[in-house]
Amino acid sequence: MDTKILVLEDYISTGKLSETDREKLKEAAAVIKNGGLAAFPTETVYGLGGNALMKDAAKKIYAAKGRPSDNPLIVHISDLKDLKGIVRDIPEAAGLLSERFWPGPMTMIFNKSEAIPYETTGGLDTVAVRFPSDPVASLLISYAKVPIAAPSANLSGRPSTTSAEHCIEDLSGRVDMIVDGGSCRIGLESTIIDVTGREPVLLRPGAVTKEMLESVLKMEVIEDAAIKGPLKGGIRPKAPGMKYRHYAPKAPMVLVAPKAAGHTAYVADKILEILRERQPEFKKIAVLCSEECLKELKEKADGETDRADIRLTGSRSDTAGIARGLFKHLREFDEDKADFIIAEGYPEDELGLAVMNRLKKAAAWQLIYV
Ligand code: AMP
Ligand code: MG
Repeated sequence: MDTKILVLEDYISTGKLSETDREKLKEAAAVIKNGGLAAFPTETVYGLGGNALMKDAAKKIYAAKGRPSDNPLIVHISDLKDLKGIVRDIPEAAGLLSERFWPGPMTMIFNKSEAIPYETTGGLDTVAVRFPSDPVASLLISYAKVPIAAPSANLSGRPSTTSAEHCIEDLSGRVDMIVDGGSCRIGLESTIIDVTGREPVLLRPGAVTKEMLESVLKMEVIEDAAIKGPLKGGIRPKAPGMKYRHYAPKAPMVLVAPKAAGHTAYVADKILEILRERQPEFKKIAVLCSEECLKELKEKADGETDRADIRLTGSRSDTAGIARGLFKHLREFDEDKADFIIAEGYPEDELGLAVMNRLKKAAAWQLIYV
């Protein structure tokens, strides 16, 4: 299949959608409405869009990603009014959260209506819905005039894509169209919260943090067990996607994280210890760490950091910046053919919970707390 790339040139250079850009979005919207696939940017990551009301579009999405068909898709809307037609009921908690966080990087789980085929929900009676704030995504959905099912636009098992370049790398030849709207502002997938039960449950952490959800709901939000640790045999995560190996570079990766906020100073010591232990064994060890950690490493190292491939995540104080660049770094490890990766971990509060969730999965839960 030939994949047409539509570059939103004016939007990328000025931040505003010109008439030409809009025409391109109309073209992509028509492809989706008629059962084809188009990848597009959102504020979280790129999405691989198909018509959420068509069984065959869902099947095509699974095929293009190489994704197991029991892994449900998120349905995207561009107007709160569109929610009614696709869900059976709107719980009170959903009303409160949508008022505060929609449009935005938050997905909610509802009981699905008959309009949504089981192909879209991976056979579940529930449907995940998001109302993105990104102007490209929301205009595309409103032009399509149908809800758009869009999982992350990457090959299954690879890190989500946060730029058109990465999207093209994974999906060129597998989808009808890719809309290039530049880099994604947040860089991590949406927060997922299940509002179908008596107590709200956080299924996947994202930029709308657990603390933010709790402050609106005025109650504790339960964290699904799959967020912080590997699932013990036999336990099924509530968000099916959480069970798959994800975000993982090809090389083995170990994560060194502070046990408590005051322990960040020990992280560099441990990374250096691992470097010393492993450098004789591996040809190309990569280290993913903050500027602060690199400074501490260099003060104590005796040539070990010069022999390592250091990648900076940014400053420890800028978790949003760390989140934005994370998937790009994970992809670069493969390109650079790193054969062992050591990554710095961060405290698991606020956005740190989402960053650590992706890092732990990338490290296949190989985690050392210091
Ligand atoms: P992605 O769009 O690739 O970020 O993946 C969407 C993820 O949302 C899936 O992997 C699931 O984990 C989760 N999800 C989608 N629909 C549901 C649902 N009905 N119930 C629980 N989790 C869901
Ligand atoms: Mg995904």
